[in-house]
Amino acid sequence: MYCKDCGKELDFKNINNEGDIPYCAVCDKLHFPKVNLAMIAILSNQKNQVCLINQNNNFKYKVLIAGFIKPGETLEECVKREIKEEVGVDIIKCDYLNSHFYDSSDVLMVGFHAETNQLNLVIDENEVDKASWYDIDDVIGRMREGSIADLLYKQYYKSKRT
Ligand SMILES: [Zn+2]
Repeated sequence: MYCKDCGKELDFKNINNEGDIPYCAVCDKLHFPKVNLAMIAILSNQKNQVCLINQNNNFKYKVLIAGFIKPGETLEECVKREIKEEVGVDIIKCDYLNSHFYDSSDVLMVGFHAETNQLNLVIDENEVDKASWYDIDDVIGRMREGSIADLLYKQYYKSKRT
């Protein structure tokens, strides 16, 4: 690991309670590991339907609403903002479901279930190609098998069915 500021190879410095933290002796700076945060949300309505969207001209697989957290924003604020931006509804509830770490990009993807009492979806055409409601029994197979969205949905579905 190298210092992002000066390029020197990092040493480690032992910090109480935190263990060995990468340290640049030139800059006299600790480099705590950086994690990028993103959220992904299952959006449901009061008819027990779930919102799936198409993005990037991919009409083969649907996805869930997702996005990166902006500086200064909480996870819940991001869920609320992204849902409003992408499909135009307000949420009345937001619960944590699970999270998944992508090693390749140092992204922690945090999964939520959000609920709205509005049925009319108004998409942001720059970000979303299509958005529709699906009955919860009609979702499996519409998203790419094994994707984070698919795994998150299966967990949600199981909890709704037991
Ligand atoms: Zn440095």
